Amino acid sequence: MRASVLDAPGRPLRTATLPDPVPGPDDVLLHVRACGICRTDLHLRDGELDPGHLPLVLGHQLVGEVLVADASGTHARGARVGVPWLGWTCGTCRYCRSGRENLCERARFTGKDRDGGYAELAVADARFCLPLPPEADYPDVQVAPLLCGGLIGYRALRMAGDAERLGLYGFGSAAHMICQVAVHEGRRVFAFTRAGDAGGQAFSRELGAVWAGGSEEAPPEPLDAALIFAPAGALVPIALRALAPGGTVVCAGIHMSDIPSFPYEDLWRERSIRSVANLTRADGAAFLALAPRVPVRTTVTTYELAQAEHALSDLRAGAFEGAAVLLP
Ligand SMILES: [Zn+2]
Ligand SMILES: [Zn+2]
Repeated sequence: MRASVLDAPGRPLRTATLPDPVPGPDDVLLHVRACGICRTDLHLRDGELDPGHLPLVLGHQLVGEVLVADASGTHARGARVGVPWLGWTCGTCRYCRSGRENLCERARFTGKDRDGGYAELAVADARFCLPLPPEADYPDVQVAPLLCGGLIGYRALRMAGDAERLGLYGFGSAAHMICQVAVHEGRRVFAFTRAGDAGGQAFSRELGAVWAGGSEEAPPEPLDAALIFAPAGALVPIALRALAPGGTVVCAGIHMSDIPSFPYEDLWRERSIRSVANLTRADGAAFLALAPRVPVRTTVTTYELAQAEHALSDLRAGAFEGAAVLLP
């Protein structure tokens, strides 16, 4: 099969021909029809996160058609499924036993510990493949970004409780979907982009944000919660200062630069800071059921498999609005 391969962190992705993957008894073999590109892929490419093995096939927002079913027949041949970041959990640790498989001590992640979707074929544990909404509502390219930006963004939104005034810091793939969900839920969205990013600010207003500005700007009124999708720790004290008493800052990314110190006064009055890690299969089911009801519309730029390195460069540079999807 053709694949885009990471040989070592810091090195450009390379298009290569690899042996076809062989599914185990719990796995399905998939023909990859589309694979979303995530900032986590960029962190692995740039060496900010450690890959589980090398060479590695990145990609954890995989839309695939089942070519070979698993032994239990969880997903039939021909079915369209989604493969998210959570690729395998142990089922026995204290987190798995308490509904928190996202924190499993032995979890294996797609496109990090297991080869992912930047390839023509992939194998995935059938128990962790998600049924997708009907293809008529969500073609392959449109549904792929839901599988990480959408559903981990949704987990982050739930950590914001019933916050009515919601700040979104970093208006990329996740925020452009979660903005639509938040507006659907009756919240008011305040969008924060890189300073001077007039295009990104206009894009957020089109999706329902009531205000948009640069990330260093103070919003016109205090926020009840702020979700930080950008990997910049400097945004944490800035977002904290934008909060009303009792408000929460939710850090939604897997990697962030160091957080500068800040006066305790900024945290006082029951403000809080927390992170969100990974997803559970229940998060996936909940978000994929909700998305067609909003409905969440994804804005997507597509790239061919051989352009994977170029796509990651564009993501690093903020060269597109919304999400990017690879077509293997
Ligand atoms: Zn576990
Ligand atoms: Zn991701």
